[in-house]
Amino acid sequence: MPFLPGALVLFSGGQDSTVCLAWALERFGKVETVGFDYGQRHAVELDARTAVREAIADRFPRWAPRLGEDWVLDIHAFGAIGETALTQDRAIAMTERGLPSTYVPGRNLVFLTYGAALADRRGLGSLVGGMCETDYSGYPDCRRTTLDAMERALNLGMERDFVILTPLMTRTKAQTWAMARGLGGEDLVDIVVEHSHTCYLGVRDRRHDWGAGCGTCPACELRAKGWAEWVAAGRPALAP
Ligand code: ZN
Repeated sequence: MPFLPGALVLFSGGQDSTVCLAWALERFGKVETVGFDYGQRHAVELDARTAVREAIADRFPRWAPRLGEDWVLDIHAFGAIGETALTQDRAIAMTERGLPSTYVPGRNLVFLTYGAALADRRGLGSLVGGMCETDYSGYPDCRRTTLDAMERALNLGMERDFVILTPLMTRTKAQTWAMARGLGGEDLVDIVVEHSHTCYLGVRDRRHDWGAGCGTCPACELRAKGWAEWVAAGRPALAP
């Protein structure tokens, strides 16, 4: 099958996928976004997606014409399988396998399967995701080797030449802030701070330099630590 030029970004509205969206907008003439409603406890995550997209379209005239459709796919049946802190009211803790209880088994494989089916229909050849081995080395479906195997499976099963792009794979969280600055300057950093959502507990009314969140859940801790490192290094801009 022919190579398809556009990109579909797996977009949760978090810090990582916001930077991935900017990265894709810088490279592709046509970029669409997809999010998954799998019964998260907090609709705030899905609301953040809209806010980030609107802010990007507002403040980046060079990207606005490239930003296409947004899709939200209902995968509640999958959410019901993952008996985890994200989908049920359980405390966030480490499991006996050394993974946070927020880990939903195989989540990225499901996202990519849905994403590829949608990309096929939409005529988009690249799937862009914020998977990262650096900070979340415990998630086996974030590893590049997993994604290489997935890319091969999708291309065999759908007779396409999809490419799975993971621009943050080897980046630390501090480097992700630096990438935001490199891609879109302080405007993009500001959008990530103000509109992207990371906190597992869905807290939006507690404000920090790095954005809103409870400040103590593992996701907030990681975001705050990356921010502190980036600021301590003098807020560098990383050419993506
Ligand atoms: Zn939090």
